[in-house]
Amino acid sequence: MKELTYFNGEFIEPGAKVVSVDDRGYCFGDGVYEVCRVVNGRCFALSYHQDRLYRSMREMDIPVRMTPDDLTELHEIMIEQSDITEGYIYLQITRGVAPRHHAYDRSKLEPQMLMYIRPLDLDTIAAYGKGVKAITLPDERWLHCSIKSLNLVPNILAQTKAEKKSAYSAILFRDNICTEGACSNVFAVKDGILYTYPANDLILKGITRQMIATRVAPSCGVTLIEKECDREFIEQADELFFTDTIGGVIPIVKLDRMQVGDGKPGPVTMRLRESLEKVMLEGLP
Ligand code: PMP
Repeated sequence: MKELTYFNGEFIEPGAKVVSVDDRGYCFGDGVYEVCRVVNGRCFALSYHQDRLYRSMREMDIPVRMTPDDLTELHEIMIEQSDITEGYIYLQITRGVAPRHHAYDRSKLEPQMLMYIRPLDLDTIAAYGKGVKAITLPDERWLHCSIKSLNLVPNILAQTKAEKKSAYSAILFRDNICTEGACSNVFAVKDGILYTYPANDLILKGITRQMIATRVAPSCGVTLIEKECDREFIEQADELFFTDTIGGVIPIVKLDRMQVGDGKPGPVTMRLRESLEKVMLEGLP
């Protein structure tokens, strides 16, 4: 098993200095990215990640140079050559290289693509099932959070505050409404019904969120309502959990200083977590 790094058409040494100081990703965070889970030697839900990548690129006005088939093939090559069966593939595309100037000229820029594959420690992911702590913070991001942009400064600051308080992550509130986590989506369970923020421009439409909404919750017989939940609702929820590609469904057992429910991962959360794990093992293109 070995980690592999790919940059603009070739495999490179992981520490190789290949990025130009004039790369707009480096100067401005001007680019997009995706993270896809490798489960059992296959990418999980790659077509969903690709759809979101192309949508992010369209909205950022970054031209697409690779077809979905080429991109799929590249993911498969990386898995095969690295021999990594449980891990993740990170992909980022920046707008290109040009002397630093805020405005860009599309005709003079060639997007730069980086990809790498790394293994994941499944014991760490399994341990999330015991429940994690979350803190609450104001959502201070821009108004296009549905774009998976490299520009993650508010997320980084929120996540750092959370980790300093030994929390898994932060739950963000905009105008007293829970939007999502600093790097995950957020769900609440109240009286057996599942709630999450509607998929609009103020959150990232997580692929895991999409799996819960379209496959996992229906197969578990759990009703999902997409609605704006205020702080009081979140604080009084029976169960809370995060979702993201790496951790799946992550039960929240402590919110700031309060216990969530009885302080243990809730039954609905755990049913969804196990069901998602099954879907991931079965695989999805
Ligand atoms: N929201 C944000 C802000 C994220 O960064 C992420 C991904 N880490 C998610 C939600 C979850 O998305 P996904 O399920 O596609 O990983």
